Amino acid sequence: MARVFNFSPGPSTLPEAVLKKAASELLEYGKSGQSVMEMSHRSKEYDAIIKSCESDLRELMGIPENYKVLFLQGGASLQFAGIPMNLLNKTGKADYIVSGQFSNKAFQEGQKYGEVTCVATSKPDNFARIPELNKSKCNPDADYFHICQNNTIYGTRFTSLPDTGSVPLVADMSSCILSEPCDVAKYGLIYAGAQKNIAPAGLTLVVVREDLIGNARPETPSIMDYKNMADNDSMANTPPCYTIYMMGLVLDWIKSEFGCLAGMKAHNEKKAKILYDFLDSSSLFKPTALKSDRSLMNVTFVTGCDETDKKFCAEAAKNGLINLKGHRSVGGMRASIYNAMPIEGVGKLVEFMKEFEQNA
Ligand SMILES: *Cc1c(COP(=O)(O)O)cnc(C)c1O
Repeated sequence: MARVFNFSPGPSTLPEAVLKKAASELLEYGKSGQSVMEMSHRSKEYDAIIKSCESDLRELMGIPENYKVLFLQGGASLQFAGIPMNLLNKTGKADYIVSGQFSNKAFQEGQKYGEVTCVATSKPDNFARIPELNKSKCNPDADYFHICQNNTIYGTRFTSLPDTGSVPLVADMSSCILSEPCDVAKYGLIYAGAQKNIAPAGLTLVVVREDLIGNARPETPSIMDYKNMADNDSMANTPPCYTIYMMGLVLDWIKSEFGCLAGMKAHNEKKAKILYDFLDSSSLFKPTALKSDRSLMNVTFVTGCDETDKKFCAEAAKNGLINLKGHRSVGGMRASIYNAMPIEGVGKLVEFMKEFEQNA
């Protein structure tokens, strides 16, 4: 067996140690005589799994007591509707920064539910940077203010948060959650699809301040109502049991390998630096994101020639470096180097890029 280095934006590579642990417990979890996949979500074995997953997440992210952790389904995309359904309930106004395709989708979905404003966008720059915010455009009485913290497709991220005053900040962290420390108290709500940095696909995490829930719009499906889910410990219906178990293994891995999210961040910065330093010195490959807004997780670059880009991706794949093709709206290449991408993977990639450049 030869495992490749997988630079896929999502679903993405998982820590090998986690996959091995899951394999070793696949047929029988502990002394339960069954696989986690087969377990009742109401069993005491499963109760211990989900509880320790939540407490490890609370510990790693430093989630304050007055925040609920919800294990949901439907992807980050369902939350594009779930957020307005649950939070757009006082003035019916919300502000969005549109810094990429996912935040634009969230903005469009939000418009179905109220007076939703795009207060800043970097669309004219093909989302190569995080837009400046003119505070006079913001609604001081908005029910929430939405950002996408890391723009998976364009390789940019917010390095500082917008000052939203008393308006709750809502952040899509699908592609950056757990990659660095996060001051949860600065947010009203954080959400993330699992398949980039948390676990395999199938789970959506929502961390929400208690006082924001319990007032969902009347048409909200009950399994999308955060209050109902919180009151039922995310088990108003069957949760994505196995993915939550996998998330628990990933959290254990972060704790044992890196200690805390500051350790995780240091590792991620080291990886990103190897790649960006090379890109900044290369005469063939050019990074596409504004330097000050560069993502630690998704590194986008082009050669400027579609043919060469195509050839590069094909030859990289032959060398065990897969899924480097950029999103169709940017073209070129994207290396997603989430938490689980080992430093050797980034090293191999840069080595291969140097070789390709010399032969070009
Ligand atoms: C992948 C991604 C999404 C979409 O997630 P789904 O789970 O497929 O709905 C949304 N936002 C961001 C930032 C993403 O990276």
